[in-house]
Amino acid sequence: MNLIVQKFGGSSVADVERIRHVARRVADSKDQYPDGVVVVVSAMGKTTDRLVGLARDISSSPSAREMDMLLATGEQVSIALLSMALQELGYKAISLTGAQAGIITENLHTKAKIVNIDTVAIKKLLAEGYIVVVAGFQGTTADQQITTLGRGGSDTTAVALAGALEAPVCEIYTDVDGVYTTDPNVVPQAHKLSEISYEEMLELAQLGAKVLHPRSVECAKKYHTAIHVRSSFNTHEGTYVKAMKDLEIHRPVTGVTSDLRQAKLAIREVPDKPGIAAQLFGALAQANVSVDMIIQSVNDNLTNDIAFTVHEDDLKSALNIAEQVARDLGAPEVIHDPEVAKVSIVGVGMIGTPGIAAAMFDALAQAQINIQMISTSEIKISCVVARQEVRKAMQVIHDKFVIDESAVNSDDILL
Ligand code: ASP
Ligand code: MG
Repeated sequence: MNLIVQKFGGSSVADVERIRHVARRVADSKDQYPDGVVVVVSAMGKTTDRLVGLARDISSSPSAREMDMLLATGEQVSIALLSMALQELGYKAISLTGAQAGIITENLHTKAKIVNIDTVAIKKLLAEGYIVVVAGFQGTTADQQITTLGRGGSDTTAVALAGALEAPVCEIYTDVDGVYTTDPNVVPQAHKLSEISYEEMLELAQLGAKVLHPRSVECAKKYHTAIHVRSSFNTHEGTYVKAMKDLEIHRPVTGVTSDLRQAKLAIREVPDKPGIAAQLFGALAQANVSVDMIIQSVNDNLTNDIAFTVHEDDLKSALNIAEQVARDLGAPEVIHDPEVAKVSIVGVGMIGTPGIAAAMFDALAQAQINIQMISTSEIKISCVVARQEVRKAMQVIHDKFVIDESAVNSDDILL
């Protein structure tokens, strides 16, 4: 079947005028894809944030089940309005909640994973000529409890539906033209990528790029669905996120990204003996604090300093735990810095291209930016720097590596 799944985010359906605009685009697609168009929408504008605020006004710890009941209403407003707008244009359209669309999730409120999609109802409606408008971000457990997939979950709904319906492409419409080499608001020379591999997109999404939710990328990779990220405000081609062979990739670094919401802690002079790291990180895990980078430095033969980073929201609990552990071990002090940021480069091309890390460190050194911590994987390198220096760091790293492929001959791109 030649069908298409399209997702429109909250900013694309923020008001009635934009919903009408989305309806016209969806209608054009229906003329192009007569086999079927399935549309997934998010809640209008900042609706979900507003609903979260209402819940917090009532309760400091609202129950997860009722949060899902509440937040799921946001998407129901937009599916109904979009269906009405399509009907106004003379098209057959019908809205479906996650449950009606057959989206079955695990039994976990506020962050459920999709376990199965029963496509019978959607396929029947498509065969009857309907444009099917599905509420993003929500599903149902096997025993009819409404669940949500975690903030930003509509991307995952769309990609999972594309996978289940075997649509070759899932279009994600957003307020930017596609995936950029870095944030154009920080680095004016950033340019749109015409394509990017699943692996690179997943790293970028996990490291702070907001254009796609990481889970949607994992899902696309698993089901071999290409994602086309494009603007809802113009008809330019956006960025294709897809399987790419290494040979197709002629660039060592694909993107530069940053995460400003990091905090650093260090326990000084902990005894150098087995079990210390297990004790500290075990206690943090128990408190549900996820730790990102870890560095252990050797002072002498007797003690080590252990430094690590956490999300800034977790700083307070991480500090309490670290201080407790330090007391237990007789370590003299815990220091912390709430004002750090992580800057990262990502690229499948760095495999087999030596010198990328050195070049990144050199760019930072030339700009007099001190590197506080480093971590690497096969296709990424991250450095922790002072938060006030992160914009400059992104600029100098982008200048060093990222070349506009459309502007130069591909032979020039390899370092
Ligand atoms: N409305 C939900 C949120 O704001 C889901 C989404 O937009 O993807 O998180
Ligand atoms: Mg949203």
